[in-house]
Amino acid sequence: MDYHQNILSTIGNTPMVQLHKVVAEVPALVLMKVETFNPGHSIKDRMALKMVLDAEARGDLRPGGTIIECTSGNTGMGLAITAAVKGYKCIFTTTDKQSKEKMDLLRAIGAEVIVCPTNVESDDPRSYYSVASRLSKEIPNSYWCNQYDNLSNRQAHYESTGPEIWRQTDGKITHMITGVGTGGTISGTGRYLKEQNPEVKIWGIDTYGSVLKKFHETRQFDEKEIYPYITEGIGEDIIPKNIDFDIIDHLEKVSDKDGALMARRLAREEGIMLGYSAGSALAGLLQLKDQLTADDIVVVVIHDHGSRYVGKIYNDDWMRERGFLDTELRVKDIIARKQDTSF
Ligand code: PMP
Repeated sequence: MDYHQNILSTIGNTPMVQLHKVVAEVPALVLMKVETFNPGHSIKDRMALKMVLDAEARGDLRPGGTIIECTSGNTGMGLAITAAVKGYKCIFTTTDKQSKEKMDLLRAIGAEVIVCPTNVESDDPRSYYSVASRLSKEIPNSYWCNQYDNLSNRQAHYESTGPEIWRQTDGKITHMITGVGTGGTISGTGRYLKEQNPEVKIWGIDTYGSVLKKFHETRQFDEKEIYPYITEGIGEDIIPKNIDFDIIDHLEKVSDKDGALMARRLAREEGIMLGYSAGSALAGLLQLKDQLTADDIVVVVIHDHGSRYVGKIYNDDWMRERGFLDTELRVKDIIARKQDTSF
């Protein structure tokens, strides 16, 4: 018989898939690590499980306990899956910017979700960090994972994502590119890859409105870099402990519009239905294509599935309201199509 004892051991060992049409202008071989094959449909299952296992080992999480986390959804899904198998309760704080699909999914798997305002300072008592911190003090036998500063996050990628990529590329990878939020994915995976071959370039994707790129380049925290943006999961207004800036060779900013349009192209041209930040990662790669050659092997590590964004980037009205779809072009397309069918 060939079976898993429970769903948790299906986390990781995700496939690598070559991209074609969307990278036609890129001289290198471009492979995508399709993390949507994890049971929670995102890469965050890896670090969620690791944060719980490490907390159990330290005695910070005991039977019947409550897991608390501030999460935009994906970490929450990984924690909720882990909690369901291991018998913990979950309370998540999230921001009102996140998609309703993400919150509904978390509630469906048994978590309590508390929605907090997006545009407040992180030390404001209403912020999703502050609410999570307060709850962890008020609720007995509770454990706040704190994915931003909990180094089990990047360690999960050092132990699993990095070695998988090295194996799957036979050690031939030359560039890894991925979105950066807490920094766990890029720092853990990047460190493992650079330890195998210091020549591997690690490129991170940031957003306009995030403080990360400027901090990477100047080591100065510039508040002027911070303003609201639409892309979900990447960019920060704080410097999380999980980001190891020395591992990152370059951070590239991608606009909300370019990320959204590229996610739609990935679905329609490659048949890979992914989230917003996956579009940003690939759009960033196209921005950097002149730095690549035919000998390069690029691995794009994506974060989550597109089902969580059907009401957003995959919805034409939502896209048009934000000026992300070229209305003039659409009218021309429709006229062209009508002319075609008249023959
Ligand atoms: N994309 C999405 C959709 C995410 O949920 C996250 C996690 N915040 C990221 C990218 C960034 O990953 P990391 O936190 O490991 O930097």
